[in-house]
Order: sequence, then structure tokens, then C-alpha cells
Amino acid sequence: MDTRVIEALRAVLPEDELLMPGGLNFENYGRDETEDLFFAPDVVAKPRDVAGVQSVIRIAAQHNVPVVTRGGGTGLSGGALPVTGGIVLSTERLNRILEIDRDNFFVTVEPGVITQVLQEEVEQVGLFYPVDPASRGSCTIGGNVAENAGGPRALKYGTTKDYVYGLDVVLANGELVRYGGKRLKDVTGYNMTQLFVGSEGTLGVVVGIILKLMPLPTKRRTLLAPFGSLDDAARAVPAIMQRGVIPCALELMPQACLKAIEAKRGEAVPFSDSAACLLIEVDGHDEAMLEQEIETIGEALSDCNALDVNIAESAAQQAKLWAIRRAAGEAVKSISPYKEEDTVVPRSELPKLVRGVHDICDRHGIRMICYGHAGDGNLHVNLLREDMDSAEWERRTQLAIPEIFDLTVQLGGTISGEHGIGYVQRGYLPQGLSLAAIASLRAVKQALDPQGILNPHKVFPEEV
Ligand SMILES: Cc1cc2nc3c(=O)[nH]c(=O)nc-3n(C[C@H](O)[C@H](O)[C@H](O)COP(=O)(O)OP(=O)(O)OC[C@H]3O[C@@H](n4cnc5c(N)ncnc54)[C@H](O)[C@@H]3O)c2cc1C
Repeated sequence: MDTRVIEALRAVLPEDELLMPGGLNFENYGRDETEDLFFAPDVVAKPRDVAGVQSVIRIAAQHNVPVVTRGGGTGLSGGALPVTGGIVLSTERLNRILEIDRDNFFVTVEPGVITQVLQEEVEQVGLFYPVDPASRGSCTIGGNVAENAGGPRALKYGTTKDYVYGLDVVLANGELVRYGGKRLKDVTGYNMTQLFVGSEGTLGVVVGIILKLMPLPTKRRTLLAPFGSLDDAARAVPAIMQRGVIPCALELMPQACLKAIEAKRGEAVPFSDSAACLLIEVDGHDEAMLEQEIETIGEALSDCNALDVNIAESAAQQAKLWAIRRAAGEAVKSISPYKEEDTVVPRSELPKLVRGVHDICDRHGIRMICYGHAGDGNLHVNLLREDMDSAEWERRTQLAIPEIFDLTVQLGGTISGEHGIGYVQRGYLPQGLSLAAIASLRAVKQALDPQGILNPHKVFPEEV
């Protein structure tokens, strides 16, 4: 990188807001949680305030260098990777909760607030931020906005987009703009707030976020149900919903996933010899109503041949079941290098998707472990390389992945439910969107970032 860029950054940011190659943990900023990819940044900027962010963007625009915004670095599509170097702009010091508005049920935060920290703070005053990615202990609200993060509770409560009511954004020319605000109704111009949700750091840097809150549910029941076949477990998902119950979570963990969690945690996982388990949770304020819902769920489970129904009797048991589920991602990824596909279909098509991805991976000789948010039809399909040599791995996955996405689209789904397109999925975008739709996305990108400095080589396939 041109040394004038570094000089310009040094002139506007205090010394401790810049990290140079060789500095402490510098290499961490070249990775996220996507596969085993690494790209070295030229410099890392960690501004403490919005003015600092604006200065970084203005310098990048002036010198035409890439800026990759980074939150917690937990992304699974390579969104935060500086694939052509440049400036990594970390939001880790923009991490204040600015206001919890108990009258209007809104919270105003900086982007670097860790999701779990926000959840716990608002719960202290009886409020609830439901979006609950399994990475909540290390991902940021800014990253959640940029990826439109979901998680287990999306089934009942929706995803990040359903809570974002206002954004402060630093645009590609360094200007600061505010879209939306603490108001439930707003048709003043285009809905720009939502345009930035899921924009993966390619349209602007989110520096302030207003999120809607809910009353904190006071009661919660959690259960685990094992099945003798994966098909029965997948069938139980629509069967529960058809009876009119909307659980706040409905998670599928097939046997291979249960075994991986067991190995990673080094302790027994209940029913790990079953073909698959469903983790189901209902929440609300009325004990009698929850009891009724649990009964209805029990009927649906038994109609779909559940082998057992294990209801957590205490908050500690509930926490243990969730610790098991939240360990799934890391447990599967620790087996071997992997590629994860974030398929999503209408939930009634889940049994076909589960069967289909197994068939495809078997046919290509690839070991696969899937698990996911079955109630949303969102299945994480992990292809494991194990000891396959890298040329063969690339050859087989290049055949299998497009087939998985073709199947997903045929079933009415799409190629990413919650992890985004980022770097690693961009080549598959034409399977998820028509060429005309991609052209319209490009027009938006061109309008907001004409120099293409914001997170280049993301979202769009190179050749289209
Ligand atoms: C074990 C594990 C479990 C996971 N479980 C879930 C899950 O249940 N649900 C789910 O949805 N995801 C899940 N994820 C994926 C990941 O945690 C989410 O995508 C999360 O939203 C990323 O947040 P982050 O702060 O780590 O963002 P990063 O990885 O740092 O960045 C992700 C993208 O957001 C952009 N970005 C970050 N901050 C900003 C900002 N302030 N302004 C503009 N752009 C920005 C980056 O440029 C990048 O494109 C999981 C990941 C792991 C490793």
C-alpha cells in the first residue's frame, strides 16, 4: 500500500487506533470463521468514534484503497476478509450501548456491541432482544445488521431485519447519514434502513443502530426429542406447526452432529445414538398456555414416531440443552477443513432437502454433516474434507455444491438463509438471483460506492 495512506491515517488517528503488520494479533484481522482462509490486511484501523470512521473512509476514497469493515470476525461467508489487502476497519472500540428507551422499547447502540452483551443488558430491565445467533458471545450487532443474522428464534421472532428501525451510516464518500429512527411507522422516502441490512459492508459503514425491543418472556419450556430416522425428525417440523403452535426454536441435530458435539465437549449428549434429535422451545407469559403447547407438540412428535420426549426441568437443564446446540457449529468445523452451505427452503420441503443433500454428497463421495434451524427450513450443510487431497476436494465440491443449490432452488429456497454471500458464495449468486436482479444490485452498489472501495470482491460474482 502507498505509504501516503499510512501517513494520512497517522495524521488523523491516535497511535493506538492503528495496528501495523507485526503488531499484536495483527494476523487475526486477516481471518474470520470461514474455512481456513487468510488474507493479510495492509493496516488495521480501530477508531473510537464516528469522526474516526469518517476520516478513514475519506482517506480510502482519496487514495482509492479498499476498506473492509470488521465486527467480531465470526462470519461464515468470508465477508470480513481483506481479499486484496487494504484497510481493515474494526468496530471493536465502537462498543457502547447508548440508550435503553423503556418507554418506547428501543435500544440505541454502537456497531461493535457484542450481541450477548446487548441481550443481557436489556433483560436487566425486563426487555428482550430476541435475535440469537449461536455465535452471540462473539459476534457484534453491526455484523448482525450487515449479515441480517438469524438464529434459532427466527421462527417466532424473525431475524435482525425485523428489529432494525434506524441506522447511522458512513457512506463511501465519508458523509454521515441517518435513516429511520425510534418510530414504528415511517414512509419518508425509500426504506434505506432496510437496504443496508444484509448489505455485507459493501454499501456503507454502519456506525449507529436503533433496534426495537420486546417485553421479556417470563416463562420458557425446552424439550429434546430423539427419532429413529432423520426423515421422521424432519417430518415433525411441519407437523408441529400445522397444529397451530409456533415454538420460539425448533432445531434439528442429526446423529453425526450429536456425535461431533459429544466429541468436542468431551461429555455425553442425550440420545446421541438416535438418528436425529429435535430441540424445541416455547416461550411466553402464561404457564397454562405453555403447558397446552407442550402437550400439542408432544402429540405431533408422537405422530411422527418420536422415541422419547425429554423436558428440561430447570433453567440449568435448559441452559445445558442450549449449550449442546450452540456447540454444533464449532464441533463440526473442528473435525476437518470444511465448506458450509447455508441452504434455506420453505419448512415443508425440509424432508426433501435433507434426503437430497445426503444423496448428492454420497454420490460425490463427500462426508457431510448437516444441522440447523429446521423450523425456518434453514439447514447448514457442512462438507468435510477429512484426508482428501486438495485437488480432489476442489473437484468434488465444485460438482456437489451447485447440485445442492439447484435442489434448494427447485424446492423454493435460496442459497443463503443467514450467513450471506460474502467472498466464498459469490460465484453461486446466479443460482440464487436472476441476471436482471444481479444487475439491479450492481446499480445500487455503483450509486452508493462508485469507486468500489467498500469491501470489494464480495457478494458479486467476478464474471457476471
Ligand atoms: C459458531 C458460529 C455460529 C454461528 N451461528 C449463527 C447463527 O445462528 N445465525 C447467524 O445468522 N449467523 C451465525 N453465525 C455467523 C456469524 O456469527 C454472523 O454472520 C454474524 O452476524 C457476524 O457478525 P460479526 O460481528 O462477527 O461480523 P464479521 O464477521 O466481522 O463481518 C461480517 C460482515 O459484516 C460486515 N460488517 C461488520 N460490521 C459492519 C458494520 N458496522 N458496518 C457495515 N458492515 C459491517 C463485514 O464487512 C462483513 O461483510 C455463526 C458463526 C459461528 C462461527
